[in-house]
Amino acid sequence: MRDSSITIILPQVAIADSIIESPAGRIIVPGHHLPEKRVNIDAALAQQLLTAARATAANAHAPYSNFHVGAAVVMADDPERRIITGANVENGSYGATICAERSALAAASSLGFRALRYLALSTADSLTSPLCDRSPCGICRQTIREFIARSSDASEALILVDTAEPGTLCEAFDIDRLLPYGFNFAPPGIDRSYERVLTS
Ligand SMILES: [Zn+2]
Repeated sequence: MRDSSITIILPQVAIADSIIESPAGRIIVPGHHLPEKRVNIDAALAQQLLTAARATAANAHAPYSNFHVGAAVVMADDPERRIITGANVENGSYGATICAERSALAAASSLGFRALRYLALSTADSLTSPLCDRSPCGICRQTIREFIARSSDASEALILVDTAEPGTLCEAFDIDRLLPYGFNFAPPGIDRSYERVLTS
């Protein structure tokens, strides 16, 4: 079988802090600092995940937005490394709607898996649109972050965003680049020692 392992280079991020003095006190505009990171992924698996995500979008229950989204995940703590999918499920209350990413993670979690390795996302109705029309919403970014934090392979986790750009397979992120300053409050008395500390 042809080896399709590739190395994805996630670039260094070096955005300096900004500090503004004011009569009422200092205002800090936090920067963002990440070292370059290299993550290996099998290109054939990435393609399988994106294909599964796009196919699953056809099952979206989206009568209100008509925006069909599919997601496909592989969990790091699943010895079989199966592809688990989810689609968005809308609700007439709107607030009860669940996005495809959280639908897939709920399915994986319901099978007993907690540690995300790869998540592919396909917004089937906006595949030719700019990235901001195809990337995960804020709630999903936070949810993805917590599943990655539970992985012993946290630094190897990737989020892949589908596109119809000719000759392009996807855009790729790690969670630190997708969600800077993700919420990570640990209330006193809650044992979260099993979670890996992410960079941001
Ligand atoms: Zn979402």
